[in-house]
Amino acid sequence: MSYKHILIAVDLTDECHPVVERALGIVARNEATVSLVHIVEPMAMAFGGDVPMDLSLLQQQQFDQARERLQSFAGRYPQLGEEQRCLAYGQPRQELHRLAEEQGCDLIVVGSHGRHGLALLLGSTANDVLHGAPCDVLAVRLKKPKD
Ligand code: AMP
Repeated sequence: MSYKHILIAVDLTDECHPVVERALGIVARNEATVSLVHIVEPMAMAFGGDVPMDLSLLQQQQFDQARERLQSFAGRYPQLGEEQRCLAYGQPRQELHRLAEEQGCDLIVVGSHGRHGLALLLGSTANDVLHGAPCDVLAVRLKKPKD
């Protein structure tokens, strides 16, 4: 079975490069199309959705900064052109599922910290994305768990 369109989800930290490298290996072997996606999380979400002020200017700045960061992050990968980069606004799980469906992706690749204990109960983006995903999800282990 081969994948046709692979969505790579990145939080734009350096930690996320192994996710892209792993995904690009699969892209090359499958001769697949690729989308590199970052989701900008609305500030109101960080404050629990209850902020008594207009955040639209801050949100625009946040979006502009994310665009620059995505450009510099993707600069490492000459095979990823402008048209393969995508920024969306919202909750990562919801937006990644929406984009995967919209673009007809058959694999989403995310990083996973291999959390356990309380951190696992609190959840992670990888866990979140897995639930209800419209296609396969590959969680690339980012760090070895401490024994
Ligand atoms: P986390 O468990 O939240 O630290 O995130 C683990 C992985 O989820 C990252 O390595 C990314 O693959 C993905 N991810 C986290 N936040 C975002 C985001 N805002 N946009 C896209 N992908 C994300």
